[in-house]
Amino acid sequence: MELIIATNNPGKVREYRDIFSPLGYEVFSQGEKGIHLEVEETGTTFEENAYLKARAVYDLTGMPVVSDDSGLEVTALNNEPGIYSARWRGLETEHERRMEILHELKDKEDRSARFVCCICFIDAEGKEHLFKGIWNGTIAYEECGTNGFGYDPVFVSEDGHGKTTASLPISFKETYSHRAKAVKLLMEYLEKNHVERP
Ligand code: IMP
Repeated sequence: MELIIATNNPGKVREYRDIFSPLGYEVFSQGEKGIHLEVEETGTTFEENAYLKARAVYDLTGMPVVSDDSGLEVTALNNEPGIYSARWRGLETEHERRMEILHELKDKEDRSARFVCCICFIDAEGKEHLFKGIWNGTIAYEECGTNGFGYDPVFVSEDGHGKTTASLPISFKETYSHRAKAVKLLMEYLEKNHVERP
């Protein structure tokens, strides 16, 4: 089965390809299918934004689509950056956004945070299904590591033995991350409902 990942983010495409290819799915980014689309994330929740992105690509292709909307919620910042993680406070680069979090938490005791991932899968018939994964952790005191992307250099997951996600092997995220948890729910759904495999 061909599966399109509705994103322009190469980090995400790589993670999804690593997960789905060994299972026999032929995974394409939307760009590889000639779709150059930047869907406006006008939703107010991760669920809504994931749906908007998947639906836009499905409407153009009629093919099964996976999209996700994800982000980092920091408790002491009223769960910001949340759905604005990729464009928080108008800061241009991932490094700037990470530094902003470190700065904001300078005098805060509570450094707890969580990554959230909501996956929307639209099947060949055009019906949508939503799956959510949460990864709890804390914000480190400084950036560390070069693996992964986004907030990985400042996120220490509850199962990361005190190390930032960016300092651990990439395979670690494939097992424990918010995306891995949401993907697991999606895979269970696909298994249970006997969605066509090659
Ligand atoms: P999205 O593409 O709208 O889902 O935006 C997700 C944003 O949240 C990314 O640009 C990152 O800043 C952040 N994010 C989501 N998942 C991760 C992750 O696994 N590691 C690091 N940052 C992430």
